[in-house]
Amino acid sequence: MAGNRTFTMIKPDAVANGHIGNILSDIIAGGFKIVAMKYTHLNAETAGAFYAVHKERPFYGDLVEFMTSGPIVAAILEKDNAVEDFRTLIGATNPQEAAEGTIRAKYAKSIDANAVHGSDSDENAAIEGNFFFSQFERH
Ligand code: GDP
Repeated sequence: MAGNRTFTMIKPDAVANGHIGNILSDIIAGGFKIVAMKYTHLNAETAGAFYAVHKERPFYGDLVEFMTSGPIVAAILEKDNAVEDFRTLIGATNPQEAAEGTIRAKYAKSIDANAVHGSDSDENAAIEGNFFFSQFERH
């Protein structure tokens, strides 16, 4: 059975362009409940660790640099079938390929500055949520 939690970040481009409010509205309108949320600024160490799975990819250095370029919003979201439904809500990684009306189609400019992160599995949702929020903080 699919899990009911996913993890998201509103990335530096979307924060800098003033889209936090609109993106949170879309998330809530999409049926997700925000169960933890944090405004923070990653450094090279934390961004590098978060994206360690992409270490061998050619864009890893650019990704870490971009994710440390400004503040982000990190959140744990709850809904039935959360991981898959959230990836549908945000659209394809490349905003040029993202379906109309999706968060990336509306707010992202490029494949690297693509406005939001969404976990790709229940397992990663739990790992990523725990990376930002301790059990104690969660409710
Ligand atoms: P996601 O699950 O849709 O976020 O996509 P991936 O897990 O494949 O990639 C993680 C993140 O790396 C994406 O959200 C992008 O921000 C970034 N990324 C992916 N592909 C590229 C690329 O070709 N170039 C650059 N600069 N960044 C990329």
